[in-house]
Amino acid sequence: MIEWAMRDDDFKIRLLRFTDVLPSLKSDAVVLRLFKEYFSDITDVPKIVLHGIERLSRGSAVPRIVAAIIRSSVKSLATQFIAGTDPKNAFKALHALSEDGAALSIDLLGEAVVSDIEASRYATRYLETLEFLVPALKARQGYQPHRNKIDISLKISSFYSQIEPLDWDGSIEKGKDGLRPVFDKAAALDASITFDMEHYYHKDLTIATFKSILEEYKDFQWAGIALQAYLKDTREDLLSLLSWAKHNNRRITVRLVKGAYWDYEIAVNRQKGWPVPVFLEKDETDRNYEELTRLLFENAELVYPAIATHNIRSISNAIVLAEDLGLYEGQFEFQTLYGMGEPIRRALKQRPVRVYCPVGELIPGMAYLVRRILENTSNESFLRKSFAERMSFEELIRVPDPNNYVPGETKDTFRNEPSTDFSKGENRQKIGEALITVRRRLGGKYPLFIGDEEVFSETETLSTNPAEPGEIVGRISSASRSDAEDSIRRAITAFASWRKTSPESRAGYLFKAAEEMRKRRFELAALETYEVGKPVMEADSDIAESIDYLMYYGRQMLDIARPRVLGRYIGEENEYLYGPKGVGVVISPWNFPLAIPAGMVSAGIVTGNCVILKPSGLSPVAAWQLIEIFRSAGLPPGVLQYLPGPGAEIGEFIVSHPDVDFIAFTGSKDVGLRIIRLAGDTHKSQANVKRVVAEMGGKNAIIIDETADLDEAINGVLVSALGYQGQKCSACSLVIVLQNVYGEFCERLKEAMNSVKVGPPEDPATFMGPLIDKAALKKVRGYIEKGREEGKPLLIKEGEEAGYYIGPAIFEVSPGSTIAREEIFGPVVSVIKAMDIEEAVAIANSTDYALTGGIFSRSPAAIRKVKDEFGVGNLYINRKITGALVGRQPFGGFGMSGVGSKAGGPDYLLQFMNPKTICENTMRKGAAPFDSSRL
Ligand code: NAD
Repeated sequence: MIEWAMRDDDFKIRLLRFTDVLPSLKSDAVVLRLFKEYFSDITDVPKIVLHGIERLSRGSAVPRIVAAIIRSSVKSLATQFIAGTDPKNAFKALHALSEDGAALSIDLLGEAVVSDIEASRYATRYLETLEFLVPALKARQGYQPHRNKIDISLKISSFYSQIEPLDWDGSIEKGKDGLRPVFDKAAALDASITFDMEHYYHKDLTIATFKSILEEYKDFQWAGIALQAYLKDTREDLLSLLSWAKHNNRRITVRLVKGAYWDYEIAVNRQKGWPVPVFLEKDETDRNYEELTRLLFENAELVYPAIATHNIRSISNAIVLAEDLGLYEGQFEFQTLYGMGEPIRRALKQRPVRVYCPVGELIPGMAYLVRRILENTSNESFLRKSFAERMSFEELIRVPDPNNYVPGETKDTFRNEPSTDFSKGENRQKIGEALITVRRRLGGKYPLFIGDEEVFSETETLSTNPAEPGEIVGRISSASRSDAEDSIRRAITAFASWRKTSPESRAGYLFKAAEEMRKRRFELAALETYEVGKPVMEADSDIAESIDYLMYYGRQMLDIARPRVLGRYIGEENEYLYGPKGVGVVISPWNFPLAIPAGMVSAGIVTGNCVILKPSGLSPVAAWQLIEIFRSAGLPPGVLQYLPGPGAEIGEFIVSHPDVDFIAFTGSKDVGLRIIRLAGDTHKSQANVKRVVAEMGGKNAIIIDETADLDEAINGVLVSALGYQGQKCSACSLVIVLQNVYGEFCERLKEAMNSVKVGPPEDPATFMGPLIDKAALKKVRGYIEKGREEGKPLLIKEGEEAGYYIGPAIFEVSPGSTIAREEIFGPVVSVIKAMDIEEAVAIANSTDYALTGGIFSRSPAAIRKVKDEFGVGNLYINRKITGALVGRQPFGGFGMSGVGSKAGGPDYLLQFMNPKTICENTMRKGAAPFDSSRL
């Protein structure tokens, strides 16, 4: 099968996906169903698969037997790479290796740790493993305390469920709390510990945790850390570890690996718009590996190198280098992976070799197994080249020679503004400083902005910090009707020349504003944190999204402005073009306090209209920043004005004003529907029928079927439901779970949500901050009461007293109950059990809204069904349902979730313009401009 997978990428993906889902399937019928779903539409498959499919479709096979065969095939694949399901069961294999002279490093395969309870269970498994294995293995004859010292490999992400580099100190402290018992036990039993290295995002934190705990365990001799040669950073990291070791007067082990997450790092970092941290060429990694080997060997008094590779060129290089540098045996070791490169281990047997042995069940082992299959089938894999493809010896040991590969990227493609990478120390420092300076400046006075004047009114409203309601963020002037009249007049005047400004220069203002936002990025995020209680990372994403809107709509306008000629006829010219509508009002909510007004405002002005911004009363200071930014970009007076004031009064007044031509609204359903009604009422003096673009609420469901990856599903639901305290229009507040996995899912979700930190939004440890205001808190508490009446509470967590805090709540309810139908805008989740996917989709579709929705499933048929039948504007498969990106996941719904086309999408700007067709007869007395291409 693996050989087949090497030849055929499509088959390889199917095989990986099927193998991935198989162990979690509880029923034989589902195993068979998925087997068919994955393989029945391809004919070019290995015989064994083809026979299986044929028999199944003839109905001649007994499901139980076929399922058992499939299961045992995958199990036998797995047992090649995994030593056993638990230490006892693995003992025979481990003992045999040990007898054969190998040292061991035991890795306990674990599910993604999503809660505190799971983290502590995982730590306990390590203690039990050490207690059982170390004495048992030491007892064998010929055990050499140094050469055969037993090592355990661990991943720090498994020791603290809320690990997050932004919360640097907290993650290190909590990580160490989990690790200490394991260090104590290992010290007592004279075992060693190696920190595995996982994703790049956690790399610096892993190194910092490693150093920090070793500073506590000064006498612990045998601690090590894995470093990945595929990372461009590793040389620097190694140098700094060496100087740390020197300074602390100790020796550490460094396990030098090539790195097993190459595909992941490329995909994820590209998606985020972050620099790709790995070398793109395999030869660069190989060369780096050799250079790092040298660096390790040259510092052998500070470091015990473990050369962990199956590449015989890298191994030979190490052997020769060690000889050149005069290293004696025992000053370094080789490491191989269990079940991979056995011939290599045997060839190296005279030297110290350690085998990395994963132990654990198949479900948690799947991520490991997939990495191994990827490695065996990758085009670049040494094992593949040497054993499967029998590449020539000369080719296998040739000197790595990377030719500098630069990926093709054109300047013209729109790229999302990356969110800030808080695993980088400098970014943590910048946001920390911004939080301090912005807090010092809170409490200022903010005017209206009419024409090009700042107007301070007598009446003021206060914007306060929801985390500390006594803290005033700003005092905001409140507009009167005559201010509104004034600004509409100024807008009409400005429109006369703005409409004639070229699309290029209009777009230019957006690009300049984006540049200004980039400069002020940390300060803007800090402000949102104080004004609307957004935890830092969420606030940072809001600024990135604001920049995206400016850049995206600017580019879109340039596209739209290109004249379009329709039809190619001699003697007739048809032109299709767009002109602005006139004066518009933008009415924005508080929950994306900069991005949503930035999107609506920039769309309005770039299309040639003049816009009056009426922000939410809960986020006027953030919205004011947009005014300042556009002023600094030099936007002409009257094109963008700022008119804060009570929605029901000033908002309605402008909406109903006869001289307003369009309204762009984002907010609740009730207000949206009222605006649509008011706007539909035409005055005698009115020149245009008003256009309303209204983005409204949602009641968003995620379906979990029996083939879902529960680790990912729990995390996806948690982030979608609790991100920004559930106050996103896209937030998940309904989870529909198929019966087979219902119990397990609910239990894990409860523990995971119970582990989430609720606290001040500026605190980096916080995942959930406060609700926006007292009224919101009261409303959410009301829904929690309702939930108690209607269903069974699985979790209810109250918040702290000061500030509008509330913790997550989960209720089991039946379809149709109030809390499963109404938008709640808080961290309240309803869970509903469904019999099958049909019922699940029907429940998901039964709300008034149609905004976002999602499914976690590994069944191609279920995914197909949901794509066809789940009625939402934004459908997400196997990921969170929040965080839509401009230009990539244009956002917006239908039903009671809104009218209009999607924000951040290709049609959005068209709503702010009037299309116009011009047809000119170019024939004069029978003569027309002749163009042979039109014949
Ligand atoms: P809201 O409807 O209370 O207020 C939105 C805006 O409307 C505010 O500026 C408010 O002052 C103004 N307003 C209130 N009454 C008005 C009236 N009678 N006439 C004119 N303007 C009036 O909503 P909110 O609490 O600020 O935001 C939360 C709501 O927004 C949620 O329902 C959420 O789902 C929705 N939302 C939707 C999207 C989307 O893209 N679909 C995005 C974000 C938020």
